[in-house]
Amino acid sequence: MESDVGIVIDPIYMEHRTVEGHPERPERLASIYDMLNIGNYRRSFVSIPARPAEKEELVAVHSPEYIERIEATGGKEFCALTPDTNTSKLSYRAAITAAGGLFEATAAVCSGRVKNAFAAVRPPGHHAERSRAMGYCILNNVALGAAFARDRLGYKRILIVDWDVHHGNGTQHAFEQDSSVMFFSIHQRGLFPGTGVFTETGIGKGEGYSINVPIPKGYGDGEYVSIFQNLLRPVALAFEPELIMVSAGFDAHRQDRMSGMKMSSGGFACLTRCLMEIADLCCNGNLVLALEGGYHIDSMTRSVKAVLDELSGVTTSDTGRAAEKARAQKVEYVLRRSIHVHRGRWKSLNDFGIGR
Ligand SMILES: [Zn+2]
Repeated sequence: MESDVGIVIDPIYMEHRTVEGHPERPERLASIYDMLNIGNYRRSFVSIPARPAEKEELVAVHSPEYIERIEATGGKEFCALTPDTNTSKLSYRAAITAAGGLFEATAAVCSGRVKNAFAAVRPPGHHAERSRAMGYCILNNVALGAAFARDRLGYKRILIVDWDVHHGNGTQHAFEQDSSVMFFSIHQRGLFPGTGVFTETGIGKGEGYSINVPIPKGYGDGEYVSIFQNLLRPVALAFEPELIMVSAGFDAHRQDRMSGMKMSSGGFACLTRCLMEIADLCCNGNLVLALEGGYHIDSMTRSVKAVLDELSGVTTSDTGRAAEKARAQKVEYVLRRSIHVHRGRWKSLNDFGIGR
């Protein structure tokens, strides 16, 4: 039976080729697409066709010169954008269709055609800066999606949650002066790209709307869920987003060697449930997730399935029970630091009695 969950999938996303041995490889998506084809699982979702983003849409986040530079790589076998980010013949096409996939997913949620959506796209996006590719990312899919939602769909407040284990520097920079887009990133301290410390809270009008939670390695399901419930939730409910977008990377999984985190696939389902609850309270459930990192292919695929099961209500994770398993000291460290820098703006954080 079809649910009211949308998915974006497109074979073009596998045409972005990286060098031999690169962790961000087409097989990542091939595995997700295979999983969707098992037992017709895919038929339980509403398929949302992607489209290439237009240049006029890309300039909301990227400079015209940079877009031209990436476009010029089209048809060329190999161009190195950075030491770890390259293009192949169809990378530009894949990248603009990844952004366009986010636009279509967001429009489908906005129109009510689906309740929420997951975009299984690549190349990933959250490290991509205005005029610079970075960390396997070429165009910033989620930032472009949020700009599209704001400029074309009329959303006035958008919350972006980035649970990829790396800091979403590109996304933060796109909106750090903008109070209409709140950016919340939880990531492993000291990992690439090194930004995203607690005191990066936004600039000017955007002060208080960038929330960074850099955590030491070793945090797992309980701690993540507890941080979502005790920090993200009260701030999000005060912000009252009209749409929640997620940079959903799965490299915090305990099997992923990119990080020292201990998340499980069920933990990602729990985080999804936390966000579904916030979205239900604030914005009729409007939630759009996009794939970012996740390099242990099997655990990433299982985690995507767990998230899709949660979105469609096949599972209903018990967030309270998950949070009970959190090691209190690990959570309190984060809450103290965050509340210290954010309680001026977000009064709801003062209720906790910690961090004073
Ligand atoms: Zn990552």
